[in-house]
Amino acid sequence: MNKPLPRRTVLKGGTLALLLGSADIARGATIVAVRVWPAVDYTRVTIESDTALKTTPLFVANPPRLAVDIDGIELNPALRELVGKVRSDDPYITGVRVGQYTPNTVRLVLDLRQMVQPQVFNLQPVNAGGARYQHRLVLDLYPSKVADPLEALIVDRLNGTQTNVPSMTATPPVSANALGTAPDPMADLLASQNRQPQPLAAQAPASSASGASTPFTSAASVGNNASQGSERFIIVALDPGHGGEDPGAIGPRGTKEKDVVLQIAHRMRDRINSTVIQTKFGKLPMRAYLTRDGDFFVPLQVRVDKARRVQADLFISLHADAFFTPQAKGASVFALSQGAASSAAARWMATQENRADLVGGLNIKTQDATVQRALLDMSTTAQINDSLKLGSEMLGQIRRIGKLHKPQVEQAGFAVLKAPDIPSVLVETAFISNPDEEARLTSESYQNELANALMKSIERYFSRNPPLARTRNT
Ligand SMILES: [Zn+2]
Repeated sequence: MNKPLPRRTVLKGGTLALLLGSADIARGATIVAVRVWPAVDYTRVTIESDTALKTTPLFVANPPRLAVDIDGIELNPALRELVGKVRSDDPYITGVRVGQYTPNTVRLVLDLRQMVQPQVFNLQPVNAGGARYQHRLVLDLYPSKVADPLEALIVDRLNGTQTNVPSMTATPPVSANALGTAPDPMADLLASQNRQPQPLAAQAPASSASGASTPFTSAASVGNNASQGSERFIIVALDPGHGGEDPGAIGPRGTKEKDVVLQIAHRMRDRINSTVIQTKFGKLPMRAYLTRDGDFFVPLQVRVDKARRVQADLFISLHADAFFTPQAKGASVFALSQGAASSAAARWMATQENRADLVGGLNIKTQDATVQRALLDMSTTAQINDSLKLGSEMLGQIRRIGKLHKPQVEQAGFAVLKAPDIPSVLVETAFISNPDEEARLTSESYQNELANALMKSIERYFSRNPPLARTRNT
């Protein structure tokens, strides 16, 4: 029964595949699309097929490359396209080779720039929101050494530059280690940093962490500087929703939610980085930190984890979702709910957003249950109260520039708002399914108005609720 069938017969006869045993399930699979999502955090290669692919991955260290044998397929033009899809500036891949290794096997070789921690896994078909995928084979290439986003933030600020801070964090298996019990790395760094930017910039050595594209100063390299005091600064985590395989909602003219929310996040970043909050405790400069600064998928839990690693003072998730009917319009702001959602619509929206991992493609083997447990142990009541205050400020400002969908902050079980210690809101900036709002969302002037409104609400929030709970400079 298991005698291999002639491949051509299998490929031609669609129904013949039904006669095969499960061991032969990949026979006759056709590659329908290939995609590459390069990012500093990690690069993902997705191979989409009409049937689940059976693969044998092999990582070779010297020179670094990942070979993947795919059983039961024939090299086709869709797969060959992969060769041309790797960008010359991909942080991890230098090139791709594909060939018919045996009559039944295609060998795919990714030549790599550096050592990586590869993850190879399959995803089931999905049809949700703007995304409809058949079976996906995913090859994720994570750096084996990861730069600390907190250090990058601090150095970036001390240097007074506006360059992109890499949003990277160690993402292969989400680690809970750095969250609660670790010593405060920011306090250590700040204590060792000289506040004068020029000498620091001159001293900054080349990055010692592979993959870092931003000047990177290790604590050791500035350790000789006498500590001249340090300062507290406010970190706002901006979380552009969706990304990579997950486009989010798609407007009638084809605008993707993942693109507009990243643009809005960039506009907010510029404003945050040039803002100093005057509180009764003194001036507190602000820094933005993006959980995603590019077009790639970030799991919901990783977004929360990243914000906690940089000890963000606020977490703002940016979205622009769709509704069944094009008439739905206006902005809304959501906070977490510990119990029931505040309305059926809020519950519906949370369900939509919480599907992101399904669409984006989560490697469930790497999910870390300890993180989830840690979060549940801590009280979220204070977080939610603060989030409601921030949300109200936001609605008050957005009202001046556009329509609100709901006049008060709604609550539901959004997975991305579950950091127990960071006030967290999710802003639905508009309905991308509404043609007028889609047009506004893509306009520079409206994006600026929106960024201004959100910025103003953040300032108002902090001037009334100065961040005292956690001090980094002690
Ligand atoms: Zn969304």
